[in-house]
Amino acid sequence: MLRHAALIQQLSLEEKVALCSGADFFHTRALPERGIPAIAMADGPHGLRKQQAAADHLGLNKSLPATCFPTASLTACSWDRALLRELGAALAEEALQEGVSLVLGPGANLKRNPLCGRNFEYFSEDPVLSGEMAAAWIQGLQSRGVGASLKHFAANSQETERMSSDSLVDERTLRELYLPAFEQAVRLGAPATVMCAYNKLNGTHCSDHVDLLRRILRDEWGYTGVVVTDWGALNDRVQAFEAGLDLEMPGSHGHFDATVVAAIRSGALAESRLDESVDRLLDLVLSAAKQRRAGYRYAVDAHHQLAQRIAAESAVLLKNEGAILPLKRGQTLAVIGALAQTPRYQGAGSSHINPTQLPNLLDGFAALGVEVAFHPGYRLSGAGDPALLAEAVAGASQVDVAVVVAGLPESYESEGFDRDTLAMPASHVALIEQVAATNPNTVVVLVGGAPMEMPWLPKVRAVLHLYLAGQAGGPAAAELLLGRVNPSGKFAESYPLCYADVPSAGFYETGGKQAQYREGLYVGYRYYDTAGKDVLFPFGYGLSYTTFDYRDLECSPTPLQAQAAFTVSFIVENTGPVAGAEVVQVYVAAQDSPVYRPVKELKAFDKVFLQPGESQRLTLALDARAFAIYDTVARDWIVPGGPYRILVGASSRDIRLQAEVYVDGAPARATPPSVAPWYRCPVGAVTQADFETLLGRAIEPVAVPTPGRYTLACTFADMRASFIIRQVIKGIERTVAKGLGDPSPDDPTYKTILSSSLNTPLKNLSLVSPESMPRHMTHGLVDLANGRWLRGIWTLLTKTVPER
Ligand code: BGC
Repeated sequence: MLRHAALIQQLSLEEKVALCSGADFFHTRALPERGIPAIAMADGPHGLRKQQAAADHLGLNKSLPATCFPTASLTACSWDRALLRELGAALAEEALQEGVSLVLGPGANLKRNPLCGRNFEYFSEDPVLSGEMAAAWIQGLQSRGVGASLKHFAANSQETERMSSDSLVDERTLRELYLPAFEQAVRLGAPATVMCAYNKLNGTHCSDHVDLLRRILRDEWGYTGVVVTDWGALNDRVQAFEAGLDLEMPGSHGHFDATVVAAIRSGALAESRLDESVDRLLDLVLSAAKQRRAGYRYAVDAHHQLAQRIAAESAVLLKNEGAILPLKRGQTLAVIGALAQTPRYQGAGSSHINPTQLPNLLDGFAALGVEVAFHPGYRLSGAGDPALLAEAVAGASQVDVAVVVAGLPESYESEGFDRDTLAMPASHVALIEQVAATNPNTVVVLVGGAPMEMPWLPKVRAVLHLYLAGQAGGPAAAELLLGRVNPSGKFAESYPLCYADVPSAGFYETGGKQAQYREGLYVGYRYYDTAGKDVLFPFGYGLSYTTFDYRDLECSPTPLQAQAAFTVSFIVENTGPVAGAEVVQVYVAAQDSPVYRPVKELKAFDKVFLQPGESQRLTLALDARAFAIYDTVARDWIVPGGPYRILVGASSRDIRLQAEVYVDGAPARATPPSVAPWYRCPVGAVTQADFETLLGRAIEPVAVPTPGRYTLACTFADMRASFIIRQVIKGIERTVAKGLGDPSPDDPTYKTILSSSLNTPLKNLSLVSPESMPRHMTHGLVDLANGRWLRGIWTLLTKTVPER
């Protein structure tokens, strides 16, 4: 049943097709004569990126000032749904002011590997936490009449070759790990749009993946909103309509329209598919247009305060030996590290925000009336400087407490490329170690969007992790260090001791165009806890200035009927000296399972604020899915019957209470029927052959494009073997650098745009940037790279696209 049948009937076939691709970078197409308005969209997810002048999507042009909230890697550490709802609502108010109807976020991709350059934009390595945080964000945003765009659907967990890589994931892992965060966000949040990912999933582009976009998203999860491409992700427009992809962004200037019209006329595509897409799109734009609030103004200062509160309630206290924190009145302090003065508070790429204000940590101390000395210690770029180091160490020796701000410099992480190391810059490590050697009271404040190795940890007294804390991260850190706010964040991801310990290390960074998700379900704590591997900090870990006791666990009576609601109830008491909030985590651990399963999985959580001495009984509900696995034979969820342990913990490695329950479910059977032994006992390396047992098929090697066989599906990087293409690459490097005012080669925006230009298939490049890379040019260049000189030159000179 179409909701806008009458209007759709009035539209010509051509008009309907035209409506389904964007008018420009951030607007849908209007048909004023039919009463159809355009709507504006802008990037999120931790602030509004509305560009005034020429729009681009990767940070070339500055956007209007907006509140830069902490990034998802930090907000997830709050484990606080209400806080995420507040964030979403505030973002919506900023969108309303700027006439934006759709904010492009949140990102619910799972953190598969800590080197993913875009992890700062994602919530967690755990699907339950990611899904709940994403859902709350969406609920908040949409409560004010602004639509969300849940992205990037799906299995988009690397930036390397992000536009052309193929994520190979077995069905159980997809269902139990990579899809549930989206499912939860769709079911609880009902986002106005879902954005498909650039990558392929098991050989098919996400933009035309019938299983993913139609069968799973719409038929199973009941999603009725609009599915939009990531910017330039469209592969085959006709197949995309078939899959239920409605809106192509940023729009390809009518490039596909004739093909779609022809496909409908020939019967290759049912017109009803197009009508369904138009219907969903009309629903979006017509209802969004009604929500517009001309002249609306949000409270700029209140949003800054909110950004500060979110940062303060999310930051994670990692160590506090001898209760050195909070800092005591009267102590003399030195703040050391260039990042204290020039904060690193967000990541680069499409989420880059132009903040409304940016107080730093020094301002934060000053605002609370605390005097500090400041020493930069290293260069902002991360480069070491012996003079700065010596001056900082000397300064540290003069004070009671030295606070060193260190972590990942800007150039280390961004959309568009992955990190190449888990290490911090050597200059930061040297600074921490030398300051700590001089002053036994050294406190480290960490910044950076993702895990890092901390070889210096035993040498310092305390560590507070801010991640990328947004525009008010400095004052938030001062409040935490001085005890005005009690830290209550807990890690939403595991911190391995070193990169080699990461389950996908070894094949993640070499996968390139073929991302083999060999580790299956063993991502993050699911792996570390099953393999019994030591970690630097476990999932769910975080300290407080107070302490909490857990007691009196009660579970619903057993045996549990799988269908019945199941509750876990226990008392938490604040047993320490100050008020504080505790994040409580409920894990389910299947016992004696014939099916391969991680030793425990998070299934519920809550956050409770308690005064000193106060206690509260918490009751958390678990549904059947908390015990279920995806049966790849039945192709459905089943709850295997048998014994389970319910673990209540302060982290995945700090289980405070437990009980055994018996679930009266289905007879358990191995699924997939037989997997390599590694999956039962994940010790040592997992091989491609092991993975093939999980996948149930042999993996075809990726065909490496060679001269003579290049096609428009190749990227410039793929065709580097050609002399001509190498000259083109040099030209692109020069043009991008010039556009950005000749930045250093390390500049993350430069690296992001360059990597996007070089790693986008040529056919998509000409759709996204027809001015700089028109279609005839892509055709001509591919011909030249293939050694077809005459045809290439003819195409370039005549500017005509050959019929092939
Ligand atoms: C990013 C999306 C973003 C879009 C629009 C893409 O490159 O992957 O997350 O929303 O650009 O800027």
